[in-house]
Amino acid sequence: MNTYLTTKDEKSCCGCLSCVYSCPTGAISVENRFDAFAFPTVDAAKCVGCDKCRKVCPNDCAEAVISPIRRTFALKHKSDETRKRSSSGGAFTAISDCLMEDGYKVYGAVFDGTYRHVMHVGSASKDDRDRMRISKYVESSLKDVYPALKAELDAGQRVFFTGTPCQVAGLKAFLGKEYDSLFTMDFVCHGVFSPKLMSDYIELLSNGSKIAYFAFRDKTNSTWEASEKPTIQCEDTSNLRYLPYCYRLISRSFGHRPSCSACKYAQSSRPSDITVGDLWSAGWLCPELKDDLGVSFLSVNTDKGQALLDHLKESCTLRELDKEKAVSSAEHLNRPSRPSYINDMFWKYYKRHSPRKTIELYGGDSLKSKLMRKPFEYINAKRR
Ligand SMILES: Cc1cc2nc3c(=O)[nH]c(=O)nc-3n(C[C@H](O)[C@H](O)[C@H](O)COP(=O)(O)OP(=O)(O)OC[C@H]3O[C@@H](n4cnc5c(N)ncnc54)[C@H](O)[C@@H]3O)c2cc1C
Ligand code: SF4
Ligand code: SF4
Ligand code: SF4
Repeated sequence: MNTYLTTKDEKSCCGCLSCVYSCPTGAISVENRFDAFAFPTVDAAKCVGCDKCRKVCPNDCAEAVISPIRRTFALKHKSDETRKRSSSGGAFTAISDCLMEDGYKVYGAVFDGTYRHVMHVGSASKDDRDRMRISKYVESSLKDVYPALKAELDAGQRVFFTGTPCQVAGLKAFLGKEYDSLFTMDFVCHGVFSPKLMSDYIELLSNGSKIAYFAFRDKTNSTWEASEKPTIQCEDTSNLRYLPYCYRLISRSFGHRPSCSACKYAQSSRPSDITVGDLWSAGWLCPELKDDLGVSFLSVNTDKGQALLDHLKESCTLRELDKEKAVSSAEHLNRPSRPSYINDMFWKYYKRHSPRKTIELYGGDSLKSKLMRKPFEYINAKRR
């Protein structure tokens, strides 16, 4: 077997849990790790060597679940209110509206009530679906999701699953067969952040107080292009100076899942029916559509994706793009994120110091922080 379960190479596991729910003897469970990323572990005493865990691993069967992008589009939801409450042009809302009206249940990522954790849930109501809007740049837990979803599909329920490309690939590998009643959407993906780091960051930001709202992106007080900064409403506002630290940590690739810098799905063949993303190159590819509320990139990858396209015309403005240009302008349809070569040092420091000290040093811009990073950033730049 060539998967994480035998090699223990962290870069070859995206944490989809497909193996956990496929093992016939229940030999695989989820490790309890400091960074809180989901990793499987095998109880050798229960393993019968059937190899099923390898066959369902999206790291090992990418070729079986991907299809080349067929057509590419710029998409803008016709409702400005919807775009304001979405990461880019509101593609997810438009697609889920269409499918829900056709009886589909939607699966996507939501914050829990404390805003410290992100998890996938299924929903049949539009109000509940709205909690899935806006990107959460942290690993979303798929605990119990694949088996529940399979049971629903087998019972005749139509399902729309949205997630990272590796989560969609993991689901397809877990299901092991095509379902006409399953529609999937992934996104252009730069990677996910550690759930432990996320939860500690939110705790620090809110100073442990109750949170009424948190989002990684905010268009209510800024334009789409400047929206990549978090917003929070909490009882204690004394620590809000830490708001910019989040994107600094993300952009410096601290706390990224190891598999994200070796991602098998950072390419122009996709595991889903439709892929969406931020069309940052809108000003160049379709200047007539660009404005301050955002434009989505959308690619059609399968017949199902193509069939849905006609229904999106009612709620959205769509413009077909030159496929080569659109694909080459989306970085993570071409290559994975670059790793931070001091990520190991980051985690060693984190284990020895408080979350506050770690976040201040690695997400900060103080002289101490800059001096600490300088030699390593130089090495990073040389290696690229
Ligand atoms: C971790 C992550 C990395 C991304 N990286 C890029 C990138 O490099 N380039 C790019 O162009 N676009 C990237 N995106 C996609 C982009 O941020 C928007 O989601 C996309 O433009 C769709 O916008 P929308 O207006 O249609 O979606 P929205 O209405 O904002 O819908 C968000 C959708 O994303 C899903 N989602 C949110 N958070 C998660 C999560 N943690 N795990 C799984 N699913 C989630 C929701 O379930 C929902 O389906 C990323 C998104 C995420 C979550
Ligand atoms: S080889 Fe079979 S029994 Fe052993 S862990 Fe993998 S799926 Fe479970
Ligand atoms: S199936 Fe998923 S969780 Fe299991 S080893 Fe493969 S990538 Fe990791
Ligand atoms: S970058 Fe790749 S491995 Fe990381 S979350 Fe996205 S699809 Fe999964």
